Amino acid sequence: MSVQFIVGVGSGIKVQFTEAHGPDRDALGEGAVRKREAGAARARGAVGAGIDRRGPANPCPVTTVAPTPLEPLRRSLEHRAALWSLPELPDRVVLRVSTRLRSSLGSFRPRRGEITLAAWLLDASSELREEVLCHEAAHAAVHLLYGPAVRPHGAEWKDLMTKAGFKPRVRIPFAELPESRQRAITASRVWEHRCPVCHATRLARTRVTRWRCGRCRGWGRSGKLVIERVASPIAVDG
Ligand SMILES: [Zn+2]
Ligand SMILES: [Zn+2]
Repeated sequence: MSVQFIVGVGSGIKVQFTEAHGPDRDALGEGAVRKREAGAARARGAVGAGIDRRGPANPCPVTTVAPTPLEPLRRSLEHRAALWSLPELPDRVVLRVSTRLRSSLGSFRPRRGEITLAAWLLDASSELREEVLCHEAAHAAVHLLYGPAVRPHGAEWKDLMTKAGFKPRVRIPFAELPESRQRAITASRVWEHRCPVCHATRLARTRVTRWRCGRCRGWGRSGKLVIERVASPIAVDG
């Protein structure tokens, strides 16, 4: 199950990828306990899973900001949780924002129980911010309710988004992004390296023809990737 991505700016290769909804989902509840491990994982550069990392290292650290800007987000999370009759959800989720999350709007990492929003969303319209938060919170809720077996953007997830009053959409049209983001995206389109077999995706600012899909190679396939220049629309997380 591939998930995550799109259109990055800034320095270095921006990878967004399957970890959030990938095969290594564990119990959501272990997320908090695993915060320690998360640091170690970042140190190892464990961002993507599935595609051989033979290009430049890209550890993609997550930046935590002071708690104040997160308080409205947490309240909003509590509101969704109540609406979904999942009052335990907020306690099972760690909320973060990251200035490094530039090629997607958010992510949910089941193993860490971690929802991360792109830092610029704090200054974006509340509609967009709430949608992205709800999008990721719905992933957390689906994981809590159904475990890792269901599709990330499947019927269960769509149902929660609808209940929360949002269209269950995976991509945000380019025109709905703040102008500053539009300019940044236009200025630096990226290359998408996509596995045509399992649809795992990795983005980079340059074409990297030597990359292969590690997962598919493990299954005895060539792992050859399709490389394309990508722009809009922007995926929330994949
Ligand atoms: Zn593959
Ligand atoms: Zn998603």
